[in-house]
Amino acid sequence: MTKAIQAIRGMNDCLPGETEKWQQVEQVLRNVASNYGYSEIRMPVVESTALFKRGIGEVTDIVEKEMYTFDDRNGDSLTLRPEGTASCVRAGNQHGLLYNQEQRLWYMGPMFRHERPQKGRYRQFHQFGLESFGIASADIDAEVIILSARLWRELGIEDFVTLELNSLGSNEARADYRQALVEFLTQHEDKLDDDSRRRMHSNPLRVLDSKNPDVQALLVDAPKLSEYLDEESQQHFADVCKRLDAAGISYRLNDKLVRGLDYYNRTVFEWVTDSLGAQGTVCAGGRYDGLVEQLGGKATPAVGFALGIERLVLLLTSLDKFQNLRPAADVYVVSMGADAELAALRLSEQWRDAVPQIRIQTHCGGGKFQKQLKRADKSGAQIAIILGESELEQETVTVKYLRQQKEQISLPFAQVAELLTNLVEG
Ligand code: ATP
Ligand code: MG
Repeated sequence: MTKAIQAIRGMNDCLPGETEKWQQVEQVLRNVASNYGYSEIRMPVVESTALFKRGIGEVTDIVEKEMYTFDDRNGDSLTLRPEGTASCVRAGNQHGLLYNQEQRLWYMGPMFRHERPQKGRYRQFHQFGLESFGIASADIDAEVIILSARLWRELGIEDFVTLELNSLGSNEARADYRQALVEFLTQHEDKLDDDSRRRMHSNPLRVLDSKNPDVQALLVDAPKLSEYLDEESQQHFADVCKRLDAAGISYRLNDKLVRGLDYYNRTVFEWVTDSLGAQGTVCAGGRYDGLVEQLGGKATPAVGFALGIERLVLLLTSLDKFQNLRPAADVYVVSMGADAELAALRLSEQWRDAVPQIRIQTHCGGGKFQKQLKRADKSGAQIAIILGESELEQETVTVKYLRQQKEQISLPFAQVAELLTNLVEG
């Protein structure tokens, strides 16, 4: 026997039963984004490698270790996008959407990172992202956070996620802090693990993010980023907090919150949960005023976030929030005999015309009555509509209830549409 080919490790199929959950979540994401006047943008999955190197930063984990990069047949270096913001900015610059304008955009789709696959961490995963361009004031930082909070309410998980908030300040303030932090870390280099020691030189702020309890204990005495914030950034941060307070959104100030991407300045935030184990960050974002210019556009302030759809679906599943998922069909049409089969085909089309919401599976592939009824049951449909020779003669159908203890009934053709309407509305 030939060996069956498997999917790539960390790249998952999403099967029926699961796709319905995704559709429900995606619907909420789209609706909420549109409630705030955001428009969808779709970018290619493959971009020039240079875009991510320049955008995300050469010494970030993503660029150093996680990208799917390859030479195409022309010898150009291409990369499967590991995130959406750099692509979104590239598209905005390329099509003149950003300069001197305001844009509120969202996107959704697959991202690729070569990480160790585990629960909540995959090599192909999906993000919903939202970006707002052209507004420098704190009201827009607050807007994107308030919007994200609405997502959790709509999904019914507002009690299971916590907002963590920090400000990274200006680039200059961060450079000063970086120097102070490196001095501190150098003094305690012997107590750092290999990972932190490496980061101390390449990307020292990421040491703050270390999961190692010994490193965290050491950091208690480290200089604080908040003490280095420039005055304008302090004011900006206070303005963000004031608006969140006014909107009734609670948050936890976390001065160790830094992000794994280099482009952030000022506001950064994460929504985290205890219900997912180690992969607890559901959504992350912040302000990135330098990125547009860094990618060749005119300086444009920007703020946004991205959320991981897999983690959201996992969280919703673990909280049992998918109770009303519908099977693929409401009705299954069974027919016996060649004439009845043709009639079933024709009538099914008429019923779909008459009741646009109805989902009808018409039996295909022939076979005995009992076999067809088994299929009807397996389809998950509420009722089977049965058409045999005698039904055809009398222009009636037999309706068999598959999920209720109810006697089967006989119904004239003309009354079927009404029954189906009641079925979808009930
Ligand atoms: P983490 O700290 O979990 O590695 P990150 O900081 O790398 O996350 P971002 O680049 O900010 O994550 O991406 C935003 C969101 O996308 C994350 O909060 C998470 O929900 C999701 N995400 C990131 N990487 C993965 C992955 N490999 N698999 C599944 N979801 C992911
Ligand atoms: Mg990561």
